[in-house]
Amino acid sequence: METVRWVFAGQLGETFDDGGRMLLIEARSVLRKYPIHRAKAHLILSAIRHRAAELGDRVEFHQVDTYREVVEGRDDLQVIDPTSYSARRFVRRMGAEVLPSRGFVTTEEEFAEWVAGRKRLVMEDFYRAVRQRTGILMEGDSPRGGQWNYDHDNRQPPPKGHDRLHLPDPWWPEEDDIDAGVRADLDRWQEAGEVHLVGDDGPRRFAATGAEAERALKEFVDYRLADFGPYEDAMLSGDWTMAHSLLSAPMNLGLIDPRHVIDTVAAEHAAGNVPLRSAEGFIRQICGWRDWIWHLYWHLGEDFATANNRLKAHVDLPREFTELDGAAIEANCLSTTIDGVREHGWAHHIPRLMVIGNWALQRGYDPKQLNDWFISMFVDGTPWVMPANVVGMSQHADGGVVATKPYASGGAYINRMSDFCGGCRFDPKKRVGDDACPYTAGYWAFLDRVEPEIRGNNRMAQPLAGLARLSDREEVVEQERHRDTL
Ligand SMILES: Cc1cc2nc3c(=O)[nH]c(=O)nc-3n(C[C@H](O)[C@H](O)[C@H](O)COP(=O)(O)OP(=O)(O)OC[C@H]3O[C@@H](n4cnc5c(N)ncnc54)[C@H](O)[C@@H]3O)c2cc1C
Ligand code: SF4
Repeated sequence: METVRWVFAGQLGETFDDGGRMLLIEARSVLRKYPIHRAKAHLILSAIRHRAAELGDRVEFHQVDTYREVVEGRDDLQVIDPTSYSARRFVRRMGAEVLPSRGFVTTEEEFAEWVAGRKRLVMEDFYRAVRQRTGILMEGDSPRGGQWNYDHDNRQPPPKGHDRLHLPDPWWPEEDDIDAGVRADLDRWQEAGEVHLVGDDGPRRFAATGAEAERALKEFVDYRLADFGPYEDAMLSGDWTMAHSLLSAPMNLGLIDPRHVIDTVAAEHAAGNVPLRSAEGFIRQICGWRDWIWHLYWHLGEDFATANNRLKAHVDLPREFTELDGAAIEANCLSTTIDGVREHGWAHHIPRLMVIGNWALQRGYDPKQLNDWFISMFVDGTPWVMPANVVGMSQHADGGVVATKPYASGGAYINRMSDFCGGCRFDPKKRVGDDACPYTAGYWAFLDRVEPEIRGNNRMAQPLAGLARLSDREEVVEQERHRDTL
């Protein structure tokens, strides 16, 4: 009997297609489960429908309420192992033949070999092993240029006196009839109360086909990659994309293969068109961070996101977050970032980590709620990408498995790395008073609150010594306890 390759929304590109018959299901129940950013719902539906159109006669395409209606009782299904625990259970319950997962640089088998018997789980160790195994940016046994990592040269603040980097705009997709159909469906379902859409409707900004992802990659490499390294951590109020690639969503949809992205960037460097610090910085994001986070999702186990709350953070997410109401937020950095998420369903990694995550950490927001909020509100949000990034790295709810210390910082970091503070009613240097920066004061109040939990962490000894010396500690803590606006 001929098998049919059943593909999910994370498997929409060539990597997951071996040429036979395909099954693609647009199941509306998935969109009904949680509130979802309109741009994300649009992107996923657009990508599925574009793929169905591309595959033509080779695909069985169903637009239904649930997957079960289509797959129950069939014995001809084959799947590439999908990307979440629940999907993996489901395909096995449905009796599908399961092939090993694809779409990452390191396979699950290779990761299992690497991790076996290891006490220390550090991304940098993993990344170096990947480079050695694959030969990416290697010269024999040595890293190209003699260094593994150019972070020291990168991570620069934004250029002074500019509110943009003045790079050409990223490549933007042109919407077509499929997008118009998606938009009309979303309008109808929202009106009927069938979906809870959050965020603005606007032109689609992220690639929805393999060809579009290729265009986005090419223009990134031609016009933006060289500036990626130096400005990867910088933020400017008039430049929501900076020099970032906007490729996470198409990569997570399976539209473009990460190894192809890496090889394209490495070739551009080899041709002398891109400095090593930018090429290496970008490649590390993909075969380092992206793969690391993926493998940790399986390695740390299904209950990692629910079982960990080491800092005892139980505050519910505020309305300003759940409704993406940046206008109601006074802190300029947070207001601008949440507004950007409302508009695009995206922010680069520093606003995610050091503005949103840092705020949530300081204010004690529930890490699982924050995990689910990120999945719902970001175009590239998936169940596998959040636990290590949000519960582990950004909220330190695991007590230090993913990151050795909490990513908490005061307003000084945001002031150095952005132009937000100039337009803010708060002063990043002040911790007490009406204009005290909520990040600066919040940082000390956070340390005061979690001191019992982090006292044993050597890397927190210095900040805790600073807290002990703080002359106005009680005043700061009291002030932040009563802060009732964001
Ligand atoms: C709190 C928090 C939440 C995040 N949520 C997501 C998410 O929902 N989906 C997502 O893909 N990434 C997430 N990231 C990682 C990173 O912020 C995004 O991948 C990146 O901002 C996407 O934009 P870009 O494609 O322009 O990335 P670039 O800055 O151009 O980076 C290139 C690529 O590196 C990969 N990458 C880099 N860091 C990570 C990482 N920590 N985890 C996974 N991939 C990484 C992405 O695929 C990205 O496309 C999160 C990070 C943090 C700190
Ligand atoms: S002063 Fe504080 S709240 Fe205002 S933008 Fe700077 S860091 Fe953010």
